[in-house]
Amino acid sequence: MLTNSRLVHQPHDHSRCINAALARANDICAAKNARMTTTREAVLRLLWQSHKALGAYQLQAQLSELFNKPIAPPTVYRAIEFLLELGLIHRIHSLNAYIGCPFPNSEHSNLFMICTQCGSVAEMTHNTINGLLQSASEKANFTLKSQSLELSGLCPQCFDHAETSDND
Ligand SMILES: [Zn+2]
Ligand SMILES: [Zn+2]
Ligand SMILES: [Zn+2]
Repeated sequence: MLTNSRLVHQPHDHSRCINAALARANDICAAKNARMTTTREAVLRLLWQSHKALGAYQLQAQLSELFNKPIAPPTVYRAIEFLLELGLIHRIHSLNAYIGCPFPNSEHSNLFMICTQCGSVAEMTHNTINGLLQSASEKANFTLKSQSLELSGLCPQCFDHAETSDND
């Protein structure tokens, strides 16, 4: 499974991303007998408002605004834990933030491309890299359980911007 990082990083009908994410979340909850509460769904929606990662503090502030009352950090963390557990979101360690997963039902070997300019995160899978990490692990007698590679750089849009302003 591979997402086109250009697609994520370029203008597109994002409401389709949101609707698809919520539909997948409902299916997964139904299949796993998990309960999608209002708070959990709100956190998922907030994380899907764009392809940018959000930290727990930002989520807390936005949730409080959304519900028009202060939301305590533990409530936010519990919702995050729930969504992480179901594979609906990922933690981006280098940013200490979270993003929605575009393919929560598939095998995961994460490769995240993080734009340092606009903060958008594209998630991909790369079979050659997976193979390399697997064989490196085997050589070290290491049992590889999960992997998460975080690359930082410029997305196509921010790169284009940088190019244009260089020419000014
Ligand atoms: Zn989108
Ligand atoms: Zn994912
Ligand atoms: Zn960018």
